[in-house]
Amino acid sequence: MGPVNAEDFVAWVRRAAELVAADADRLTRLDAAIGDGDHGHNMDRGFRAATDAISGGTLPEDAPPGKVLMTAGRAIVSKTGGASGPLYGTALRRAGKALGDTADVDAAALGAALRAALDGVRELGKATEGDKTMVDALAPAVAAYEAALADGSDLAGCVRAAAGAAGEGAEATVPMQARKGRASYLGPRSTGHLDPGAASTALVLGALADVVAQ
Ligand code: ADP
Ligand code: MG
Ligand code: MG
Repeated sequence: MGPVNAEDFVAWVRRAAELVAADADRLTRLDAAIGDGDHGHNMDRGFRAATDAISGGTLPEDAPPGKVLMTAGRAIVSKTGGASGPLYGTALRRAGKALGDTADVDAAALGAALRAALDGVRELGKATEGDKTMVDALAPAVAAYEAALADGSDLAGCVRAAAGAAGEGAEATVPMQARKGRASYLGPRSTGHLDPGAASTALVLGALADVVAQ
């Protein structure tokens, strides 16, 4: 697959919104077990706002991919409460900033944008791998993307690798004890549950895989 353009990034945000809406109840149940039971609602609200912000006359038609992601990120920050709103908003804004004004995003540029998203989440939330957060899905996803790129995979192959690693990374949060966010208040009782933010991160990267596979 060749480079991706602004239309593909709009499609990504829309697909993420669809997957999040379809799984909102599951995300909320996961958060009810170790948090405050609002993650599905927060994500649904945030990605709906992001979709609205990038469609229908709000964005100039010639807006480059970076602008699409920055606009989506700003909408998420302004409309979503909780820890996840600022974290997802930062991820998208930082990814958008990394893309700059490029109209056609190749595999290397997309990898750099995902790396920038991870850096932004880490800086804001101060979580590292093993803390049972969205970083446990995003960090292995970025690593898998970069490994696939180094192996000569095309963009779709890199994204598939990233989405797969995000899903595995999310599953791997089950035995972890949370050290960041609300779940950390539970101490050892946070073990044995999937982290909701890691689960939603896997959905968002799965959405990207869906879009680039087409
Ligand atoms: P809140 O906990 O404020 O209700 P959400 O329920 O929407 O917000 O999001 C919870 C998710 O946010 C967690 O499952 C975790 O993945 C993520 N999270 C919380 N704190 C951090 C942090 N400091 N760094 C990275 N991710 C975090
Ligand atoms: Mg919550
Ligand atoms: Mg909350």
